[in-house]
Amino acid sequence: MDVKAIIAQAEDSGFGINHLPYGSGNKLSENSNHILVRISDYCLSLTELEIRGYFQNLLTEPLFSTEYLNTFMEAGISVWDSVRDRLSSDLQKKEIPQVLRDSFYPLSSFRLQLPVKVGDYTDFYASKAHATKVGRLFRGEENALHPNWDKMPIAYHGRSSSIIESGDPIYRPKGQILIDGNPVLDFTQQLDFELEIGFFTGKANSRGSIINISDAENHIFGFSLVNDWSARDIQRWEYVPLGPFLGKSFATTISHWITPIQALYPFRCKNPNQHTHTLDYLKLQNESHFDITFEVLVNGYTISHSKFEELYWSPSQMLAHHTINGCPINAGDLLASGTISGWRENEYGCLLEKNEAGKTPLTFENMERIWLEDGDEVSLKAYCKNKDAYLVFGEVTGQIQKYIS
Ligand code: MN
Repeated sequence: MDVKAIIAQAEDSGFGINHLPYGSGNKLSENSNHILVRISDYCLSLTELEIRGYFQNLLTEPLFSTEYLNTFMEAGISVWDSVRDRLSSDLQKKEIPQVLRDSFYPLSSFRLQLPVKVGDYTDFYASKAHATKVGRLFRGEENALHPNWDKMPIAYHGRSSSIIESGDPIYRPKGQILIDGNPVLDFTQQLDFELEIGFFTGKANSRGSIINISDAENHIFGFSLVNDWSARDIQRWEYVPLGPFLGKSFATTISHWITPIQALYPFRCKNPNQHTHTLDYLKLQNESHFDITFEVLVNGYTISHSKFEELYWSPSQMLAHHTINGCPINAGDLLASGTISGWRENEYGCLLEKNEAGKTPLTFENMERIWLEDGDEVSLKAYCKNKDAYLVFGEVTGQIQKYIS
């Protein structure tokens, strides 16, 4: 295997040495768990590198002899930086060290698995276009956006027990649905996807302490695409007065690959203009948005695009707000953006907006859909591109399975 040649070509795949996303896999030949870093369609086993002493003078304790990234996440930003810097510098050497070449494998040598044992999961509601369009459908034009929406990042607490890896099946959930004014128990008839991006947090703040907005990015380990699958008929009946519950908690899909925040630094872009009443603890001092383009595919056909810049609130603001009451955020918690939609026709992050709450079917190729049907496969993709660099996020895919009773 010519590792040097593979690395030279890797950036074209979106998984070059400017990216180096983290994942977890089971090595098929030995049935052992490995923490991985992806390069093109290959990977480095950090677990083997650690066993071979590669991190000996860098790390004070083992971080990668485990199934999940949580131990590494807990170690904090100085450790993340030193591991990433060493890998990146050694992979660029004229002569790649033998220990790296010995720990380099085709991705097909591993069965990928969930990379993080997700602790708590919080889902925000940060796209103005999405919040406005859904607000109009549920409450009319007058009350579309609540007055709190542009004063603080609104969120609900989700369920981590149903967070699954890309490729896992989606079982159509049952729930209470209002039909002709009466609740019945049935399978949802309004199954939807939500295009989101999420981030995983590092070292915990202690209970009672806050994460200051100026320090918030140092607590962000990395990003994954997120599909927050939703049952709209269940959600519509249950959400007043305490928000989403069983219409969401049946499945949330994340990627096999976590993109480190450091890989996104070259793609920073300007923050959106914010309300004049934004309180100081939420005021951004630096650029904290990233130029990321998203794509949604149903059964292989692209139906929608949108951009990270549609998010009114940035990850730093979400984290600063989440801890302002002293709530501890632990290593391996997931904070997601909420559905990312733009204002234009083909920029919707869920079907609910596109079909105007079930009224207008979406047509593409030879298909017509109001809601997702059994057998439909939804894939989320994303990339960053500028004149110097290109990066592709790990895909998030799920297929709707037939009813189970
Ligand atoms: Mn959501």
